[in-house]
Amino acid sequence: MRRSLGVQVFVSYLIVLIVGLVVLSAALDFLGPRHVARRMEGSGSRFGGPPATNVERLFRTGVADALVVAGIAAIMAAGALSMYVTRRIVLPVQALAAASQRLAAGHHDERVPVQSTDELGALADSFNTMAEALEQTETRRRALLADVAHELRTPLSGIKGYMDGLSDGVLEAGPETFARVAVEVDRLQRLVTDLEELSRLDAGVLLLIPQAVPVGRIVEAAVERLRPQADDQGLVIAVAVPEALPPVSVDPDRIQQVLQNLIGNAIQYTPSPGRIAVSARSEGSRVRIDVEDTGVGIAAEHLAHVFERFYRVDRSRARSGGGSGLGLTIARYLVEAHGGDIRAASPGPGRGSTFSFTLPSAG
Ligand code: ADP
Repeated sequence: MRRSLGVQVFVSYLIVLIVGLVVLSAALDFLGPRHVARRMEGSGSRFGGPPATNVERLFRTGVADALVVAGIAAIMAAGALSMYVTRRIVLPVQALAAASQRLAAGHHDERVPVQSTDELGALADSFNTMAEALEQTETRRRALLADVAHELRTPLSGIKGYMDGLSDGVLEAGPETFARVAVEVDRLQRLVTDLEELSRLDAGVLLLIPQAVPVGRIVEAAVERLRPQADDQGLVIAVAVPEALPPVSVDPDRIQQVLQNLIGNAIQYTPSPGRIAVSARSEGSRVRIDVEDTGVGIAAEHLAHVFERFYRVDRSRARSGGGSGLGLTIARYLVEAHGGDIRAASPGPGRGSTFSFTLPSAG
């Protein structure tokens, strides 16, 4: 159970007050009258009985003595309690301040002990959660830098190889060599474009302009853009979107981008002759879109990872195919930004894959 610090502080002062009052009343009860009586006896022997003003003065000094005793007791109690409160409040706060300075200096493994169940304990807990999140961000940032460096190296060493070949005279300065250089440059350009897109999505600056759009329209637009590429590779694209399907509430450009990515992948990973089927159906308050291919398929152990940044099932093949390895990561961001989810399924290598995502129906 959480014990409020406010209550603890209040109780500590209440204790000081009660101790003061108890000692004061005990002192008044026991010391005061005895003191007055003793003084009265002494003065009575000299003056034959005290006049009223003397009684008053004597009582006042008695009360003053009692207050001194009560004051000392209260100060002692306050001292003990303040030591306790200091230990409970100030020390953990100092520890937190020191830990946050070390954290700011880059020691992301910094944590503080959670010693109580009150607000200070909750603060220490929040600090640790924040430090954990910072550490994870830092680890991701380092991994991203390493990944990007790695991804840049492949096309750059390709270009360097061609340049060396050209200057050594091993390669001919003809259209074929230039075309190969252009392929590597295209790959670099795609990587940079996708990285820019990903960093925009990561920064949360994605501006979605949702509107009610018929699913068929988005699917047709995406398919039409990629049909020439599929025809070139001897692949058939079939579309099955029922007329009666409710419209979806999405930013059409962004969902077309997702579809182009999935259909583009299907084209890339399906050898000829092959077939790609794009279909849609209603699922409760959502619409589900499937992109199914008869391509190389994905082994079960890779399925959960294909949406991760730069994850490739077959590293050498995917690189030579020219993908940035970011397409599915971007697609997942976009689908999730619309409140949907995206999944990959495959019966296994060589048996095709299906990528499915859901979108909210309009209205
Ligand atoms: P890439 O640019 O490499 O295609 P993606 O993020 O689009 O990057 O895809 C990640 C990986 O998922 C690919 O490298 C590939 O191994 C696998 N993949 C994606 N789509 C398919 C598919 N339709 N069939 C088989 N494998 C796929």
